[in-house]
Amino acid sequence: MTDSSALYHEIILDHNRRPRNFRVLPDATVEERGLNPLCGDELTLYLRMEDDHIVDASFQGSGCAISRASASMMTTLVKGKTRAEADAMVERFRGLATGRAEMDDDLPSSLRAFAGVARLPQRVKCAVLAWHTLHAALRNESGAAREREARQR
Ligand code: ZN
Repeated sequence: MTDSSALYHEIILDHNRRPRNFRVLPDATVEERGLNPLCGDELTLYLRMEDDHIVDASFQGSGCAISRASASMMTTLVKGKTRAEADAMVERFRGLATGRAEMDDDLPSSLRAFAGVARLPQRVKCAVLAWHTLHAALRNESGAAREREARQR
């Protein structure tokens, strides 16, 4: 293990020990469940959307270190992002974790910690669980918003 991969491993352990945003969000506007049956990871993602922005994000659930650390970092990174920016980040992260894409400057450097899971196929689903759940939450939320708008007309 090189020094840098040890450092990134340490980032994952830290987020697992002290997950950020690990709480229920009482004023969430969207709530989405995610499950990775291969490992037994489960989480509930909470988002508070205002117009097109994610103003707050949190999660609850139980799972392995990689799934928890990934959810912890994801909920930290998407705060303040627009729906489109968050969706773009999901795509980038998916590429990184599956080894289809290299780390690039548009991705926050903390996510480099997950580049190594591409070499561990059984852990890829753990790493992407929170991001898949985010993608589903945004899709469902925009559908609900369109329905609300349609009703108001
Ligand atoms: Zn897992």
